[in-house]
Amino acid sequence: MSNDRRDFLKKSALLGLVGLGKNLLGEEKLSHLETVSNKIAGTDNAFTLPKLPYAYNALEPFIDAKTMEIHYTKHHQAYVNKLNETPSTNIDYLSSDDVKCSHIDKTTSAVMRNNLGGHFNHSLFWTLLKPNPESKANLPEGKIAKAIEAEFKSFDDLKKEFSEKALKIFGSGWCWLIKTNEGKLKIITTPNQDNPLMNLENEKGKPVLALDVWEHAYYLKYQNKRVDYITGWWNIVNWNKVEELYSQ
Ligand code: MN
Repeated sequence: MSNDRRDFLKKSALLGLVGLGKNLLGEEKLSHLETVSNKIAGTDNAFTLPKLPYAYNALEPFIDAKTMEIHYTKHHQAYVNKLNETPSTNIDYLSSDDVKCSHIDKTTSAVMRNNLGGHFNHSLFWTLLKPNPESKANLPEGKIAKAIEAEFKSFDDLKKEFSEKALKIFGSGWCWLIKTNEGKLKIITTPNQDNPLMNLENEKGKPVLALDVWEHAYYLKYQNKRVDYITGWWNIVNWNKVEELYSQ
């Protein structure tokens, strides 16, 4: 059989799969199947940069527009590109990104671990930020506020512990507030682009708050003053999103 003929059959089979997706599973499933079939056929990308929910300058004065633009269009995009260049038989492309992360362990290739982590972590990080140009008080409310008080005594105690742990990360990494399997809140850190969903040595849990402390996240504005970046960041935490993640 010629290569052309083989390609034709492969693409026809995939189109059949997409058609089936539309009829049985509805529009949302269709687009996901299309993405997967494109990945398999090598015609498009399975991983895409999510739309940023605000403008590059929206988080000023705490995160400057230039840092946001480079962070999103260069750093995050690079993780997405690398993922799409790295076919993996260990990744179930139909599963959600958090399920994909839970399949990462010590045996996973560094390129997959770093870039899947990079993509997942940044996708989450963007949603956990919100504009606060007038520097209004930014406090958690509702269920998450109660859970924080139950676990850390007060929001100020959480802030203190989280900030100290984020400050102490040596080199590049992330600081997280996670919900453990027992439903407790806990602050942990991970190196590089690892995250609390991965099957690694760090404590596991569902991330409800994330802080990127790689230098690329703050160096243009804050240079070596990571503490000032962390202090500023508390003003733009999207507590509604934290609450949503915690309640799910
Ligand atoms: Mn980053």
